[in-house]
Amino acid sequence: MTVPSTASSRRSDATPPLAAVWSGPDSGFALVTQPRPELAPGEVLVRIELATICGSDVHTISGDRPTPLPTVLGHEAVGVVEEVAGSVRTVDGRAVEPGLRVTWTIGTSCGSCRRCVRGVPQKCTSVRKYGHEAITDHWRLNGGFATHCHLVEGTGLVSVPEDLPAAVAAPANCATATVVCAARRAELSAGDSVVVIGCGMLGLTAVAYARELGAEHVVACDVDESRRRLALDFGATAVCGPAELLEHAEKYGADVVIELSGNSRAVQSALDVVGLDGRVALVGSVSPGPEVSFEPNTFVRNLSHVVGSHNYTVDDLAEAVRFLAQSPAQRLFADLVPDALPLSDLDAAVAAARQGIAPRIALRMG
Ligand SMILES: [Zn+2]
Ligand SMILES: [Zn+2]
Repeated sequence: MTVPSTASSRRSDATPPLAAVWSGPDSGFALVTQPRPELAPGEVLVRIELATICGSDVHTISGDRPTPLPTVLGHEAVGVVEEVAGSVRTVDGRAVEPGLRVTWTIGTSCGSCRRCVRGVPQKCTSVRKYGHEAITDHWRLNGGFATHCHLVEGTGLVSVPEDLPAAVAAPANCATATVVCAARRAELSAGDSVVVIGCGMLGLTAVAYARELGAEHVVACDVDESRRRLALDFGATAVCGPAELLEHAEKYGADVVIELSGNSRAVQSALDVVGLDGRVALVGSVSPGPEVSFEPNTFVRNLSHVVGSHNYTVDDLAEAVRFLAQSPAQRLFADLVPDALPLSDLDAAVAAARQGIAPRIALRMG
């Protein structure tokens, strides 16, 4: 990492924000002091308390996923409002004022395009996503790996309880909300037998959330034994490796199958094991991979549903925060995140995330 250079215009009356600007796999990160943004009406400046490194950040940093450059990566974050322009409200109607602890949607939505109106605002035709856009003169603090984030109009804000640990709250706006959306799209409800494939951050969240929704059985499947043990801690009623999945699905039922690994063989098995009138939510496959096949006669006769699920709505994010705030697994979620490293140690944090030493690595900005 290159350490601090100074951007052109800095106001002398406030501590200037600092951002880890990423210029691609070859150039890496540079900590750059940024001018405080001039907020337009409807915009908010948040002082980031803590950000976590998501798997998609790791893919981008590894060069597996192209992104416009230069940018500020990171989108899983929690922070405190420092400045507001005009009148802004959280999703539940609370006035957004300095001092309010918040998290925010990964992308903006206009609220009026056909996709927003149809209830898929995460696919808004004019979406702008935090941690995924090139820096512009007006929008320099557009990701989570920075002391501040500049929230632009159309961002959904959700207040975060003061007593929710930051390490538990930060993943809400990617991992947790994505799981909530997938469960909603798969119509997961009380009494269902659920199969969760892939027990990383999203899978463990899915296990705990399915139990919270009243799932009767939750079978967690992963190749890794330590992850299977964790899934039991999070409330799985049975665990297995891929070779035993069909047997477990037949034994306990598979009304809902949530595929979070993105592995094509796992996707195939999700389609193969789903039960009568069952619903499959495919979540993990977010980059092109090998094709899978299914035999349509079985799907017709079994009344099967398959839904893709990507990102989430602001209501899903509000539900994610509600779930985390009262989950009996809160301490377990906290334990998935080792002590946060300072932003200046971003390279070490990324290395730890790449090695997979924990489901999430955190960065503290203070
Ligand atoms: Zn829209
Ligand atoms: Zn993410």
